[in-house]
Amino acid sequence: MARPLLHALRASLPNAVVTAVGRPASRLLDRERLWNDWKPWPEARTLLKREPTFDSAVVLPPSFSSAWSLPRGIRVRSGFAGEWRSWLLTHPWRRPPRGDLHLSQEYLRLGEPVLARALSSPLQRVPRLAPSAAETEGARRTARAALGERAYVVLGPGAAYGPAKRWPVERFMALGRRCVERGLGVLVCGAANDRAEAEAVAEEIGAHARSLAGTTSTEEQLALCAGAAGTICNDSGLAHLAAATGAPTVVIFGSTSSAWTAPLGPRVAIAQRAPVCSPCFQRTCAIGYRCLTAVEVADALRAWESLAA
Ligand code: SF4
Repeated sequence: MARPLLHALRASLPNAVVTAVGRPASRLLDRERLWNDWKPWPEARTLLKREPTFDSAVVLPPSFSSAWSLPRGIRVRSGFAGEWRSWLLTHPWRRPPRGDLHLSQEYLRLGEPVLARALSSPLQRVPRLAPSAAETEGARRTARAALGERAYVVLGPGAAYGPAKRWPVERFMALGRRCVERGLGVLVCGAANDRAEAEAVAEEIGAHARSLAGTTSTEEQLALCAGAAGTICNDSGLAHLAAATGAPTVVIFGSTSSAWTAPLGPRVAIAQRAPVCSPCFQRTCAIGYRCLTAVEVADALRAWESLAA
């Protein structure tokens, strides 16, 4: 979501020394050379206090702690208003209701005080996030070991957020079977927490499906998605990875807003049938997950076919 901002800042300030602070997965973007240095959060907190040498800071998380960690001497401190933290920022920005702007556009707004001008970036113009040659070769080997020479789709039945983002596993099973009928193999990907569901999905699909959940790094998943005939998954980290590669990506949305957080990429389709209660942004549902059960296997297939066309 931050890539449009990072690309805009790098293009506008090619000689700036940029330090990124983030969770380990953000290190994946090292390859884009958008920053000079990367530091892990939250370990970087003490370092930021010790070395208040920055001219500007853009704080993307809305939490109090992320604004509190900034040295007060930084001339421009831009971030979302709220969470009792506006007084810590020189440019607190009050965000509109969720979904009025895509989250990546909200981040671009946060970058505007650094450049003292408006920033906008057509969402689809962000460059493709490409795996390296070694990562591509590694993914080929993994796919070949699992499925032989079959072309494959990636299915992602997990979503760390909670059940209100998880399409029923039975639908993933049925979808996988339809893919196999078309001569494709199926790789079921996800994190270690998704292992049980992913293995159940692969087992139910049968001989031409294999679960890789919990066994692949972020870099390996990027390369697997880039080499796939398509990725069909819940609104999750995997969806953002797959979309960024430029390969066909279908994302199934439940309780959240695709207008706000649809993954960015040139070949993304959203499968969503939002009932009147949507988006509620809840992690669980008291009324039966209608937003998810209303999305049929045929909807996901149609969305994928539209991308292939
Ligand atoms: S309340 Fe509506 S939008 Fe929210 S999880 Fe339940 S069915 Fe989905």
